[in-house]
Amino acid sequence: MAKLGDLIGLFRVPADKPDLTESQLRAFSKQIPLLYLILLANTLFVSATHYAVAPAWLTVAMPSGFALICAVRLISWWRMRRMTCDHLQAVQRLRSTVRLVGIFGIAFVTWGFAMYPYGDAFHKAHVVFYMSITTVACVFCLMHVRAAALALILVAIAPTTAFFATRGEPVLAAIAGNNLLVAFAMMFILFTHYRDFAQMISQQGELRRRQQETQKLSDENFRLANRDSLTGMPNRRSFFAAITQRLAAQSDKSFAVGLIDLDGFKAVNDLYGHAAGDELLVEAARRMESLRSPEVSFARLGGDEFGVILTGCTSSERMLALGHELCSLLRLPYVLTGLTVEISASAGLAVFPEAGSTSELLVEHADYALYQAKQQRSGTATIFSGNHAHDIRRLNLIDQTLRNADLEAELSLDYQPIFEPATGRISAFEALARWSNPGLGNVPPILFIKAAERSDLINRLTLALYRRALSDAATWPDDVGLSFNLSARTIASPATVLALTAATVNGGVKASRIDFEVTETAVMADFDQAVQTLTTLRSTGAHIALDDFGSGYSSLGYVHRLPLDKIKIDSGFIADIESNETVRNIVKTIVDLSRNLGLGCVAEGIETARQAEIVRDLGCGLVQGYYFGRPGRPDSFLERSTAAEPWRPALAG
Ligand code: C2E
Ligand code: CA
Ligand code: CA
Repeated sequence: MAKLGDLIGLFRVPADKPDLTESQLRAFSKQIPLLYLILLANTLFVSATHYAVAPAWLTVAMPSGFALICAVRLISWWRMRRMTCDHLQAVQRLRSTVRLVGIFGIAFVTWGFAMYPYGDAFHKAHVVFYMSITTVACVFCLMHVRAAALALILVAIAPTTAFFATRGEPVLAAIAGNNLLVAFAMMFILFTHYRDFAQMISQQGELRRRQQETQKLSDENFRLANRDSLTGMPNRRSFFAAITQRLAAQSDKSFAVGLIDLDGFKAVNDLYGHAAGDELLVEAARRMESLRSPEVSFARLGGDEFGVILTGCTSSERMLALGHELCSLLRLPYVLTGLTVEISASAGLAVFPEAGSTSELLVEHADYALYQAKQQRSGTATIFSGNHAHDIRRLNLIDQTLRNADLEAELSLDYQPIFEPATGRISAFEALARWSNPGLGNVPPILFIKAAERSDLINRLTLALYRRALSDAATWPDDVGLSFNLSARTIASPATVLALTAATVNGGVKASRIDFEVTETAVMADFDQAVQTLTTLRSTGAHIALDDFGSGYSSLGYVHRLPLDKIKIDSGFIADIESNETVRNIVKTIVDLSRNLGLGCVAEGIETARQAEIVRDLGCGLVQGYYFGRPGRPDSFLERSTAAEPWRPALAG
């Protein structure tokens, strides 16, 4: 039974191999014109040779009918040839092909048999030749549709062979034998060809599936490579690619590139842990995305830094409006698991082409504008301007000049006294670096210290200045200390910190007389590293003062976690202390905090008697500022200090 089933199966068009069926149809369709051409031509030739000997219904009527049917089939094939059909339609069409082949085969073979009795031996030979050769040719044309080819062999070759074999003619019997042989050969070729064809199609299908999988994987990789995994926003790579794409479009439309930085994010991360930090970033990203439009797109560039690209109108008003909207949105309280925090955000924007014509330059200038925003009006947006470009040119000049300067000869130190208002005594001198260059003149330390940080000269410069400051301090009275500034780059360099401790130990000044001043921004750049550095510096007996306190993160929460001895209240507070009661309260809080933590407290930047008075009344133990003395040579201060305590009346008001 199974064998019979297999046998019948050979004449079926399978419905479960979509790739194969569609390919069969495609390949077979190409042979159709040839198939009909051979069939018709051969039939017409036989009709022509038999025209005089056979009845007209056989030589004219029937061939005309065949020609008509073939023409109709050809036309319908011609119409359908470009039509794409789905798998089921393909199966339908192949099945109807098998049926048609069966019907056509029977019709033409019957016609052949009907023609055979007419005419002489040549006529008969023509019919025999016609039936054999036409069948062989048609089987070859049907090679891609095995079921149809087999059906044709069954309905055409089998009866003709049987017919020839039973005519009692040895020649015809031999032809029948030939026919049979050819039929077997064709079946053999048919099976091999069909198997190879099916195999090739299945391999092609497999290949296509693999290609699709690879494509899917590479699409996914592409998506991952261009997305930030935490926030789901486009990432840094994608941000730069988008800018490059805009630039490559060579459209003369201007667009703006912006950088957004969360002020105070590091403190949240350090104080409450990375999980809280991540939560905050996700929420910040969500708020930014709420402003997204076809003309405004955001990206996370890393850490707490985000990017924005603005197209369409890039008027300063529109950009500033968007920048401010963004900053106010990011300033709203963040409700995280178990706590609510408030931070702010600053933004810097650079407009193409005014602010640069490459992605690097645009981002660099947006970064510069961001830095300016943070410096001058933290929590706001700033656009890169012509003034900024001028400043950058000057900074570049400073960078270059500093690199080639004779630092030993051109650098010097000024000293500014720090007083103890209670006694009027000089508690210490803060060493302040000065650079006088033949070409540039006097360059403010704010600028050249930054330049030295950028060009990696800072640590060499710091060590040279520190050794000089130590040798100066060695000449002062024993109760006058030295306060020395360290930059962020220095406290992040273990080698320099070691060299500083070595110099402290061998410097000829008791370590307890030395204060190292570090800013809270420098500490916050890498809190853990800073704690390590400060502990090392303190191990020699030197002290640590937290400089510019209140100018950065304004968070009192982390102070007790730092190995500190003093806090220096930022001069910005002192400048407003006379007019602003809130500021007065803040300063009072800081003074109280330092007292509670057992830390010294310095109010710096005191310029007026009134400021000095308020600070004294708030209980600040140490004061510094132009009112008491500008940075200069220490000798004059020392002489006056030992004279008649002239500072006390000034403080008493
Ligand atoms: P800083 O450490 O906060 O130093 C105090 C700055 O305030 C000094 O500016 C000083 O001259 C100025 N100042 C003092 N009293 C007053 C006042 O009453 N009113 C006003 N308006 N300003 C006052 P300077 O010398 O220009 O130094 C600027 C900054 O450069 C310093 O700020 C410090 O951060 C940095 N710096 C200076 N020398 C060094 C150094 O040797 N190493 C490092 N790393 N940084 C240094
Ligand atoms: Ca300082
Ligand atoms: Ca300071």
